Amino acid sequence: MDTVFILRAATAVKTALLAHEAEIESLDRAIGDGDHFINIRRGIAVITDMHDELAALEPDLVLQKIGMKLLSTIGGASGPLIGSFFISMAKCVKVQGADTLPGIAAAFAAGVDAIKSRGHAEVGEKTMLDVLVPVSLSFTRLSAEGFERNDLLNVLKREADQGLATTRDMIASKGRAASLGERAIGHLDPGAKTCQVIIHTICDLTAEN
Ligand code: ADP
Ligand code: MG
Repeated sequence: MDTVFILRAATAVKTALLAHEAEIESLDRAIGDGDHFINIRRGIAVITDMHDELAALEPDLVLQKIGMKLLSTIGGASGPLIGSFFISMAKCVKVQGADTLPGIAAAFAAGVDAIKSRGHAEVGEKTMLDVLVPVSLSFTRLSAEGFERNDLLNVLKREADQGLATTRDMIASKGRAASLGERAIGHLDPGAKTCQVIIHTICDLTAEN
């Protein structure tokens, strides 16, 4: 995972998220306060605008700068969570590098752990973690086993789809949806949907390389 890839991924994620605007927005209107897509759009725009500033930097510094910028630009609950994801990923990449799939999986797992500890949340609480945790666990396990790369990417996309689907029948115990109790049942979590779109996009981009 080099700087060129990270910057290409940012552009691809921006395009993919904009294509899902209506869907993500309506999910947050149903069980949140309707600002999730606005928060995410502001975050991704500010990162793609940093392209020239980031292009000459090492990948760990790129991830760190992305995290710091997202911390200060995305509002809501998701800003600090997504910001800390990138900052923890950056620390891991700085120490271990990110030249192999197990190395990237370790950095991803560090990012997911940061979201868990910052948000005091676990799987099963109807949040983005219901997508991120199963993806991370499979990524770590299959990359350690030397699973063929494109098969691995397909498994990760499937994990993201399944994780997202599990949020539909959950009651939320974190975030704004927690106040809805049983009324949250029947709706997918918006943050989980955003993460599913991002994971698909990055897996597809990786498969093309
Ligand atoms: P806010 O809830 O402050 O309006 P956003 O609308 O930007 O923030 O983001 C909402 C999303 O954040 C939710 O759909 C959920 O996935 C995620 N989220 C909320 N609280 C937590 C938490 N404690 N841990 C992990 N994710 C969370
Ligand atoms: Mg919101």
